[in-house]
Amino acid sequence: MNTFLVFLEQREGVVKEASIEAWNLVQEFVALRPDTCVSALLAGPADILQLDGCLAGKGVVYHTNEEAFRLCNPQHYTRLIAETMKRVGATTLFFADTALSRDLAPRLSVRLHASLLSGCTFDQAWWDGGGCQRPVYSGAAMAISVPRHSLKIYTILPHAASSATIISGASITFELLEPLSFTSQELFPLVRRMTMRKGVPDVAEAAIIVAGGRGMGSAEGFALLEELARLLGGAVGASRPVVDEGWRPHAEQIGQTGKTVAPALYLACAISGTPQHLAAIGSAGTIVAINRDLHAPIFDVADYGIVGDVHLVLPKLIEELQEFLKKR
Ligand SMILES: Cc1cc2nc3c(=O)[nH]c(=O)nc-3n(C[C@H](O)[C@H](O)[C@H](O)COP(=O)(O)OP(=O)(O)OC[C@H]3O[C@@H](n4cnc5c(N)ncnc54)[C@H](O)[C@@H]3O)c2cc1C
Repeated sequence: MNTFLVFLEQREGVVKEASIEAWNLVQEFVALRPDTCVSALLAGPADILQLDGCLAGKGVVYHTNEEAFRLCNPQHYTRLIAETMKRVGATTLFFADTALSRDLAPRLSVRLHASLLSGCTFDQAWWDGGGCQRPVYSGAAMAISVPRHSLKIYTILPHAASSATIISGASITFELLEPLSFTSQELFPLVRRMTMRKGVPDVAEAAIIVAGGRGMGSAEGFALLEELARLLGGAVGASRPVVDEGWRPHAEQIGQTGKTVAPALYLACAISGTPQHLAAIGSAGTIVAINRDLHAPIFDVADYGIVGDVHLVLPKLIEELQEFLKKR
């Protein structure tokens, strides 16, 4: 019997959409395999009722309400996941590809002597032993990677699901885990707490991203992008120079050293389109670029382009959108 464990990541008690997607993707593969069972781990205080109607297939969700897991302490999480892997006899661990999993997965790989493949997408070939697909060379090529060790860890890119998942008929049970005891060396004082704004989607999960580059000119210039993102129900993203300048937080950085995104709509405002930025938006649905330079490389990948100054184009776009939304 193969046992898979899926880590369900929560923030402020809300389970991340990308983790639910990872669970449902794994269930799609497992559906026709009676020799495989799937469990999940949800760490930290969270209302499990939120998962009702979201998780497909069957399996057990192990949950711990311990305060030690409320915040993302990588040492605590690593120990909990490793112990849960052992407890359920899991040979394969799945994460959604998030900032937290990029921290936890390598730690677990070393601790468990497991093969780690990060940023994966899957198709049937993976299940048949053909390996999983991963973007390499800044997204210029796809590699097929096959794990070497018997224990495997995968982080799954958001929106990697191949088809809509059928939730009806799901059979999920929940089991509360015994608390872990931590030694004084394992308990760390809280140095600083950073809170994300509520109701704003994480850029890695957002279906609509309004991203700004250096050409926005200043931190204040992003007020236009915030307003546009609010009207569209999307998230604000940023290129690296914007983050380096301190105009936006690193959590919003998109690119090789930031987050990989796969929104349905990506609006690139005053972003030139260097390979390091484009590496992370290869899976975006529709790309719209606004740039005053007709020859900016972003136009090579954009589905729609507007050649113009963002400070003139964006206010007009916002006005049009406000009018449109008023009429609905
Ligand atoms: C190892 C490494 C990792 C990196 N990782 C990342 C990463 O994760 N993410 C990332 O983004 N970059 C990354 N970079 C940096 C990358 O090489 C580029 O420097 C960066 O992407 C450029 O950002 P930009 O497009 O905002 O700025 P620029 O390249 O300076 O482009 C600004 C654009 O704005 C346009 N513009 C200016 N003013 C206006 C206006 N008023 N109206 C309309 N358009 C205007 C200009 O025509 C120009 O095209 C990395 C680089 C290295 C070496």
